[in-house]
Amino acid sequence: FCSQAPIRATLFPGDGIGPEIAESVKEVFREAEVPIEWEEHYVSKEIDPRTQSFLTWESLESVRQNGVGLKGPMATPIGKGHRSLNLTLRKELNLYANVRPCYSLPGYKTRYDNVDLITIRENTEGEYSGLEHQVVRGVVESLKIITRQASLRVAEYAFHYAKTHGRERVSAIHKANIMQKTDGLFLKCCREVAEKYPEITYEEVVIDNCCMMLVKNPALFDVLVMPNLYGDIISDLCAGLIGGLGLTPSCNIGEGGIALAEAVHGSAPDIAGKNLANPTALLLSAVTMLRHLKLNDKADRIHDAIINTISEGKYRTADLGGTSTTTEFTKAICDHL
Ligand code: NAD
Repeated sequence: FCSQAPIRATLFPGDGIGPEIAESVKEVFREAEVPIEWEEHYVSKEIDPRTQSFLTWESLESVRQNGVGLKGPMATPIGKGHRSLNLTLRKELNLYANVRPCYSLPGYKTRYDNVDLITIRENTEGEYSGLEHQVVRGVVESLKIITRQASLRVAEYAFHYAKTHGRERVSAIHKANIMQKTDGLFLKCCREVAEKYPEITYEEVVIDNCCMMLVKNPALFDVLVMPNLYGDIISDLCAGLIGGLGLTPSCNIGEGGIALAEAVHGSAPDIAGKNLANPTALLLSAVTMLRHLKLNDKADRIHDAIINTISEGKYRTADLGGTSTTTEFTKAICDHL
């Protein structure tokens, strides 16, 4: 890229607090003169028959064409006859890995000061395959699907990530002592990929032990890779270690190099429209998007402005114990740029 040529990126402001925190990202990007041209897409009020969801085909095409995007939280309307919005994005764009950097924010005190880990979650199969049925009355069955192809793909991503980000260790999280076939295959694939990366230390940790180790001493971990459901749980546990969902960014990686960054929290209907939301998670997700685009100078500048604002402590939103509104906090970040 020429760093000054505008790059088109898709933006889904999303629902609830989504538009408020998306506005914050747009403002900070404007102030930092980030060469991004947003292509905004909204969740439709009608089901698009081509996607069977409230997400339109055009929105998906926009991400496919731009290759990068930022997504606010989406509340899936309750009802029948449509697919979950997040599931539609994951399936249609083949977003196979969910990457969550999780590190202690300097100046924001939590139980630990030394968290610096990355969770990488397989995003397409496992218990999330959506294959559940009733066998007979009173007995239901859910299928956990693990394939060699998806396991190799996410393991490869995890090791490549470790290598290219100066990380030293990859831990595969599993329960293969009980789920011998499914988690067993997942581990076998991780071992195969580990052999190609002798410079990265590889270890296997049983999920229950992993939870205990994480809450006792999160510094024991570096990069963690795991099947879908374990990733769902462990990544939230890790968010809790550094101060909660309002601070945690994530990025979904898809086939063909697509990167769709998103905050991990939901649409927070309890505070929506009140100018109270903390935009940090979406802003830090936007920073991961900039790093994906190799706009590292801009990413560093925005990242440091966020960290400095929080650590200064003068402007913080209510979830971090402060009294600032979303707009006041955003303005403070702009002033720190
Ligand atoms: P939630 O994350 O929206 O809210 C949980 C609590 O955290 C609430 O008290 C909320 O006020 C607070 N919170 C969340 N984000 C915050 C922020 N940025 N700043 C300050 N406080 C924040 O979870 P929920 O209530 O279980 O879900 C609400 C809706 O969001 C549901 O419709 C759910 O389906 C959807 N959801 C979407 C995603 C996504 O799009 N990735 C993820 C989770 C939930």
